[in-house]
Amino acid sequence: MGPPASGKGTQAEMISTRFDLEAVSTGAMLRREQEAGTEIGQAASELTRKGELVPDAMITELVKIWLAEKEGGFVLDGYPRTVPQAEALEALLAENGTPLDTVIFFDVPFEVISDRILNRVGCTACGRIFKIGLQVQSEEAVCPACGGELIRRADDTVEALKRRMEEYQAKTAPLIAFYEQRGLLQRIAAGGQPEEVFGKVADHLER
Ligand code: AMP
Repeated sequence: MGPPASGKGTQAEMISTRFDLEAVSTGAMLRREQEAGTEIGQAASELTRKGELVPDAMITELVKIWLAEKEGGFVLDGYPRTVPQAEALEALLAENGTPLDTVIFFDVPFEVISDRILNRVGCTACGRIFKIGLQVQSEEAVCPACGGELIRRADDTVEALKRRMEEYQAKTAPLIAFYEQRGLLQRIAAGGQPEEVFGKVADHLER
């Protein structure tokens, strides 16, 4: 867990590769639903564009369907994001007999978040994220990894960022105490480069 652009997606992918665990992002699930024009996608589209969270029941249903097919371990990226979602997840995992091992909180200062969000592009083909001015020169460039088209996310705007931060503070930040009370929370300073952050994540997971 962590605020927008705290590196959840990037770290989830790195964890997935290193530890051979399947990673699922509820944000990516919703973007796929939107692209496919499903009922859930249409219902979520306006909310995500504005930077608001989608209703708990909708998101928990998506995760429930995904979890039903899982046998081994997994990484959840961007879920849960509210206390009711965390309670629903706890109940789901208790039913399956697979409680959470750990919750990583990516702690990133606001200036870093805003710089990342306003300068990031993603590849429509391979899904990798790049920083304009660092790995690519402009959003018109092609993906350095696969040559695919790069686009900005519809919610990576100044207005949506403001709303996403408000939603985060009001609804997601309380999960820090929720998971601290359960002895599951690992706070990781995540303002640095992905490899540096992943070093700390891997140390924690290997312990
Ligand atoms: P992300 O890709 O994780 O930044 O998520 C993008 C957007 O999808 C968020 O701003 C929310 O609108 C929506 N979203 C993703 N995950 C959740 C969740 N667990 N609960 C509610 N809304 C979510």
